[in-house]
Amino acid sequence: MAPSQSLEITVAGGGLGGLTAALALRQQGFRVTVLEAAPQLGEVGAGIQTAPNASRVLIGLGLRPEMERIHTAPQDQVRRRWADGSVIAQLALGQRVVDAYGAPYWHYHRADLHRVLLDACVAPEGAGPAVAVHTDAKVVELDRTDPDRPVAITARGERFAGDVLVGADGIRSSVRDLAGFDDTLVFSGEMAYRALIPGDLIAGDPATRFLLDRYHSTIWYGPDKHLVHYMIRNGEYLNVVGIVPCTEQVERDWSGPATAQDMVDDFADWDDRVPAMLSKAKDDVSAWALYRRRRDPLWVDGRVALLGDACHAMLPYQAQGASQAMEDAAVLAEELGAAGRSDMDGALSRYVHRRAKHAGMVQDASLQNMSFYHLPDGPEQRARDEKLRTFDGESDVSYDWLWRGSPLHDPDNEAITYQFAR
Ligand SMILES: Cc1cc2nc3c(=O)[nH]c(=O)nc-3n(C[C@H](O)[C@H](O)[C@H](O)COP(=O)(O)OP(=O)(O)OC[C@H]3O[C@@H](n4cnc5c(N)ncnc54)[C@H](O)[C@@H]3O)c2cc1C
Repeated sequence: MAPSQSLEITVAGGGLGGLTAALALRQQGFRVTVLEAAPQLGEVGAGIQTAPNASRVLIGLGLRPEMERIHTAPQDQVRRRWADGSVIAQLALGQRVVDAYGAPYWHYHRADLHRVLLDACVAPEGAGPAVAVHTDAKVVELDRTDPDRPVAITARGERFAGDVLVGADGIRSSVRDLAGFDDTLVFSGEMAYRALIPGDLIAGDPATRFLLDRYHSTIWYGPDKHLVHYMIRNGEYLNVVGIVPCTEQVERDWSGPATAQDMVDDFADWDDRVPAMLSKAKDDVSAWALYRRRRDPLWVDGRVALLGDACHAMLPYQAQGASQAMEDAAVLAEELGAAGRSDMDGALSRYVHRRAKHAGMVQDASLQNMSFYHLPDGPEQRARDEKLRTFDGESDVSYDWLWRGSPLHDPDNEAITYQFAR
């Protein structure tokens, strides 16, 4: 029996960060309860990428067979110029990344990845006790009368006590506010269109068919805007994220519905293939105001610990928000699992020590990309494109430290070398 078996952890938030943490903690022998505010668990209808740093964590949790079932493997990262679509730079992903970093760079439908994590959390078989998941369980109050047993209280008045409470409840974390952490939220002035465009429509148009020739991840750079797209579910959908200045309404509402025409209008003067692609979106287009959290290394207060967007929400310009939450999860579980009851407080400070600086660097890198990606045409843009051509990172960021991820103590996890199935 693992030493941590009798210890209880409550995780507020059943997003990608919360579920990865729940699974990692379960595998260390903890009894884990997830409290999710929504009436049903799930994810937004959009794609997600995991670079090797996050793929490594997921594979380390034993999810490789399921990930192989749901992933799409991009072979290159392609960078294009807004005006004519000319290729600025191309970076090999695929086997090169596996050889260099020991784990793959993969794309998925968010719902598929979320489902894989949820199934592994609640499966009766597998290491550690199955995770108890409660939906319609919004945490609205904390009772910290016993500082060693924080109690999360839900809107329905249910009380969940644990040895540690993990606030994985996203960018507008209630746990963060209830525990008295600083308000670090900052609005970026930008918003993201999100859409899943049916792959058969992309394949059916000679202007966009090239997107199916070879799976790749593409970033288009333009003044004040950029566009990212990649295929998921082996060509079933093209996932599109278009970043543009935020409208007043979306800033006010945080997110809301949008249309294909909105996207086309915002990218109307770009290379013809861009509006041709965006016009094929159906009625599931949405717009999301982009907020971030200011870098702040305070993630723990007593037995309350923050994880994921609750402590280090970042702009999505490194595609790393969920991936960093997965790294948090791996390190938190390692530290708590190794410590046992007598040193929970030490374990929580080691968690922050190992993760906060690293995640803060990714927050900074993502923020730097906001100006780096959106330069107007001119000398600075030409210098940027030259830098991308001889790729040593975006802005001051090399992918090397980012994709290697936080060092893990678990030798099985650290030493993962992924082999492609033959
Ligand atoms: C356009 C865009 C593209 C992105 N692309 C990528 C990418 O490719 N790769 C990547 O790694 N990251 C990406 N990200 C970032 C990523 O989506 C987030 O960083 C990640 O989802 C955060 O996970 P989380 O679990 O911390 O929070 P969330 O996903 O927000 O989950 C929080 C959960 O907590 C629940 N909750 C909220 N309040 C409460 C409460 N009081 N009580 C109980 N439950 C509560 C919510 O319902 C939710 O289920 C992208 C983000 C955007 C906006």
